[in-house]
Amino acid sequence: MSGGIKPKISVPPTYLCSMAETEVPLIIIGAGPIGLACALEAKKAGISYLVLEKGSLVNSLFNYPANMTFFSTSERLEIGNVPFVSSSPKPTRAEALEYYRRVKTAFDLQVNLYEEVLDVENKSGGSSISFRIITSRAVYRCARIIVCTGFYDIPYLLDVPGENLPKVTHYYKEPHPYAFRKVMVVGSQNSSVDAALETWRKGAEVTMVIRKPEIGSRVKYWVRPDIINRIEEGSIRAYFNSSILEIRELEVDIMTPEGKLTLANDAVIATTGYQPNLAFLRKLGIRLSDDEILCPYIKEETQETNVPGIYLAGVICGGMNTHRLFIENSRVHAATIINHLKSTGSF
Ligand SMILES: Cc1cc2nc3c(=O)[nH]c(=O)nc-3n(C[C@H](O)[C@H](O)[C@H](O)COP(=O)(O)OP(=O)(O)OC[C@H]3O[C@@H](n4cnc5c(N)ncnc54)[C@H](O)[C@@H]3O)c2cc1C
Repeated sequence: MSGGIKPKISVPPTYLCSMAETEVPLIIIGAGPIGLACALEAKKAGISYLVLEKGSLVNSLFNYPANMTFFSTSERLEIGNVPFVSSSPKPTRAEALEYYRRVKTAFDLQVNLYEEVLDVENKSGGSSISFRIITSRAVYRCARIIVCTGFYDIPYLLDVPGENLPKVTHYYKEPHPYAFRKVMVVGSQNSSVDAALETWRKGAEVTMVIRKPEIGSRVKYWVRPDIINRIEEGSIRAYFNSSILEIRELEVDIMTPEGKLTLANDAVIATTGYQPNLAFLRKLGIRLSDDEILCPYIKEETQETNVPGIYLAGVICGGMNTHRLFIENSRVHAATIINHLKSTGSF
């Protein structure tokens, strides 16, 4: 699965030393909606920039379930005031992919796809700010960095035996492979509920295992009654206040308030959420708050971090609280950063 944890590409150090460095004033890491918004603002401001993206354009959205519908209306997903026309009030993933592809084409945004940023060396000294960026393909030298790496690449693991079996996924894509099979869905938020309902409607025998006492309160208001009714009528089996103990080829052990149960099982969809790559921020020298949110230090009026020259934009700014920021309320970061760079005469 391309959205999951991938082995790092190892680049021999001797090769990197001998590689020519390409000079780019501004490097934007991540071509999600917010990285693209930053690119758009930089372009409008006449700042030379390059976006480096480890996957496809808007890679997180690409990895969302194929049939997902956004909770935001389309105009709230717009960037750079480019109209997003959708055939229904809540746009689909396919419409969003089309929209961001069109924005990239219309503005001829400079994006290198399938080029992962592996390391950043801070080469600043005195009043000059400079970074060396090492990617899976090249080495760059830049004066400013905007990090827009999102939160969808590292799933929260169940941390139980059998989690690495091929029948277990942390990224649900579409229902067909689960038809006529015994499917266990772990979790109680939007992704879990969508996976449970979709697979059940395509003929799967669905069991939900939910750590909490009820379906998540943030589940889309038009979907929540649907799952609750399916559980109450017994079409979908749900174990609340329960957790997975062990996954085996043909069965799963779970712990319920009544004790341990062993259930026959063909596939496990563990939609237990995702976390941002905060280790990457730490490596850049960015300070994180001491509490469990691990919120990166950012000056609100500029989006600059404690490391001069490094800015954060998008959902990554929320640290472990990945529900505070989304596209509609973080797209504004792009203009804030670029206006600051212009006003300080950085370029
Ligand atoms: C199922 C689901 C439904 C959602 N619905 C909505 C909604 O209705 N409305 C809304 O506003 N938000 C919604 N969100 C949240 C929204 O998708 C995110 O807030 C949004 O993607 C954040 O944009 P971003 O650009 O900050 O990060 P992302 O879109 O995650 O983009 C980050 C990009 O950085 C890339 N990247 C990461 N590390 C590196 C690296 N080292 N080198 C190069 N590239 C890297 C990634 O591949 C990725 O493409 C939803 C999320 C989910 C999971």
